[in-house]
Amino acid sequence: MEVIVNQLADLCSLRDRHALDEAVVRLLYLSSKGAVTAVRLFRTVGDADDLRCLTCAEFDAKKMAPVRQAGWKDWRDLPPLRQFPARQAVRNQLHTEQVQGDPCVAVLPVGEVLPVVSFLELESAQALSADILRVVEGIARVYANLESLLDYGEKDALTELLNRKSFDGAFLKAAVEVSSDDELSHVDRRAVPPQDAYWLAVIDIDFFKRVNDNFGHLIGDEVLLLVARLMRANFRLHDQLYRFGGEEFVVLMRCSSPDDAEVALQRFRLRVESHAFPQVGNITVSAGYTRLRNDDTPGAAFDRADKAVYYAKAHGRNQVVSYQTLVDTGEIIEEAEIAIDVDFF
Ligand code: GH3
Ligand code: MG
Ligand code: MG
Repeated sequence: MEVIVNQLADLCSLRDRHALDEAVVRLLYLSSKGAVTAVRLFRTVGDADDLRCLTCAEFDAKKMAPVRQAGWKDWRDLPPLRQFPARQAVRNQLHTEQVQGDPCVAVLPVGEVLPVVSFLELESAQALSADILRVVEGIARVYANLESLLDYGEKDALTELLNRKSFDGAFLKAAVEVSSDDELSHVDRRAVPPQDAYWLAVIDIDFFKRVNDNFGHLIGDEVLLLVARLMRANFRLHDQLYRFGGEEFVVLMRCSSPDDAEVALQRFRLRVESHAFPQVGNITVSAGYTRLRNDDTPGAAFDRADKAVYYAKAHGRNQVVSYQTLVDTGEIIEEAEIAIDVDFF
């Protein structure tokens, strides 16, 4: 009991989503007093008519350690929700679903909003006792509260994309990976396979003021919501999508080929261009992007992508512009490192 209370206290101190996910599956395993053989936390992702299951954290008794699913997957590679009847049932109910079998499976909804998006799944040799179920359901409620606190701090209320406030932390994590990749590659570039790189894109809706002026703010807000939905459908699961305010969006993506960022952004631009927005009709977006550099700062990288957007706006809009191409073709001159970037820390 004391171990569980201490672990629960530790859980409540976590502010990092991945750490929280791993801690909750470990705690659920411990709290079952050996009854449970595996615990999984997963979320549904993808289109409403083609939902998939993304495992966010897993604790397996055989490995005695949390297992996190490898990243960088397209959501279409994930197993469909319809393959798991118990999970499918819990999506539309707020109580635990237990299935007898080998193993027995209990699926718990996380949160109190339908349809359920996050789930906890416990495998056991025998059906869980009522006592153990009460404990694990209590832990699931604590986890749901912590998750909604994180959402409140990190997400934009209108679109539910990440907000600007959460950007610096994510950027710094990516920048650390870029630096360590660089350290690796300077040892022997030929021996190391091409490293993935992070790219930052700024996307701005063209002539959005006209949408508000012609159709009102409510319709404007609906357009923002639909653009966010198109972003989710277009970019990969692990690309981080932000609304930076107004009609400006940011994508932090990891790509293995230099062309991938351009391709993903062009695909998004075309998707917006061809989408019929209710009442408004068609709109377009302009995007600028840049590769993250060693020792980059959020401000410096954003500034480079923003310069590329500015160029797109001045040269016809509805286009994707690479900052590096602008520098290479002499369209813009790179400024020396600017000291004001330090302000972002
Ligand atoms: P450009 O192609 O140069 O980007 O033109 P624009 O009209 O999109 O750009 P501008 O920056 O002049 O206008 C942005 C507009 O976005 C101004 C404001 O009316 C609108 N806006 C900002 N935040 C919100 C919001 O939360 N909801 C709605 N509906 N409109 C917003
Ligand atoms: Mg705009
Ligand atoms: Mg703007």
